[in-house]
Amino acid sequence: MPRPILATIHAGALRHNLERVRRSALDSRVWAVVKANAYGHGIERVFDAFRGADGFALLDLAEAERVRALGWRGPILLLEGVFEARDLELCSRLGLWHAVHCDAQIDMLAAHKTQVPHRVFLKMNSGMNRLGFSPERYRAAWTRLNALPQVDEISLMTHFSDADGPRGIADALAAFHRATQDLPGERSIANSAAVLRHAPETRIDWVRPGIVLYGGVPDFPEHDSAHWQLQPGMTLSTRLIGTQELQPGATVGYGSHFVAEAAMTIGVAAVGYADGYPRHAPTGTPVLVDGVRTCVVGRVSMDMVTVDLTPLQAAGRPVGFGSEVTLWGRASNGNALLPIDEVARAAGTVGYELMCAVAPRVPVVLGD
Ligand SMILES: *Cc1c(COP(=O)(O)O)cnc(C)c1O
Repeated sequence: MPRPILATIHAGALRHNLERVRRSALDSRVWAVVKANAYGHGIERVFDAFRGADGFALLDLAEAERVRALGWRGPILLLEGVFEARDLELCSRLGLWHAVHCDAQIDMLAAHKTQVPHRVFLKMNSGMNRLGFSPERYRAAWTRLNALPQVDEISLMTHFSDADGPRGIADALAAFHRATQDLPGERSIANSAAVLRHAPETRIDWVRPGIVLYGGVPDFPEHDSAHWQLQPGMTLSTRLIGTQELQPGATVGYGSHFVAEAAMTIGVAAVGYADGYPRHAPTGTPVLVDGVRTCVVGRVSMDMVTVDLTPLQAAGRPVGFGSEVTLWGRASNGNALLPIDEVARAAGTVGYELMCAVAPRVPVVLGD
């Protein structure tokens, strides 16, 4: 018998979330961002739920090949463009559209022999200072690209550093508009946070939602998944494989970080940091046991997490070996939900990281 840990991907929720984005951006085409193996959900598993998108955006060429292998004939966008010249051959062969964010990529295109001109997304650095041409250098890059026979249509793109926070996008958007105002081509500027928070100006030609498709909230805790009407795309669950009765003063786990103040019962769940559960999750990090909300006590170990069973006992619920533990997502009985964002916040990270970190040893099933 394998360990009871399991990740369940909720196809219905993924579909719902895509619909939710569509409703917010009715006039836009939607890139379903499926980088990092669909934020840890598995490209092959999410594909059916997201086939209603207008295209798939990602950055690993092997992942682009996987999307084509699933039979997708529509647009695929490489968000970071090519990494070396021969990647352009794959772009030609698979019909991949690609970002162009630096002169080296323009040089590679200029030297590329291709029958079919490439559709490119010229990226502006609007303040993030990762990839892209500065607003001052953007037009020169566009002009150079536009003169290349290897290049077909040029679309204009940027990526905001602060769409999810108080700083907002006003300055970055103004810089983008100033530098692009008389350039032709489609625009793509909005990630999840920009689509949800900065309507209507971001909802133009192509939007690029990632996290919301998986039910994660880009601006948690300012807003939660109920506010944005998102459903969890993934549940991580396991079972209790033991319990311990603690006397006052007893300690739990490595380093004896948790000390029982009163007599209490704890459960031992078959999940640990080797499954991708965050080791930084401190005492108090929420979990569900049989759908009842309780919390982690003591340090997370490699293969085990200890949880407080007091709330279940207080409710008169039988609990013990075999009881279901939901680390995030939804409990199998009842309607109890534990948003991944709450767990992430307790552990000092974001839902994005937890989704992507689910370890290869965790079995994954597609559910509804
Ligand atoms: C990852 C990514 C997105 C999606 O971001 P979310 O915050 O997950 O919506 C959009 N655009 C680019 C360029 C990205 O790299």
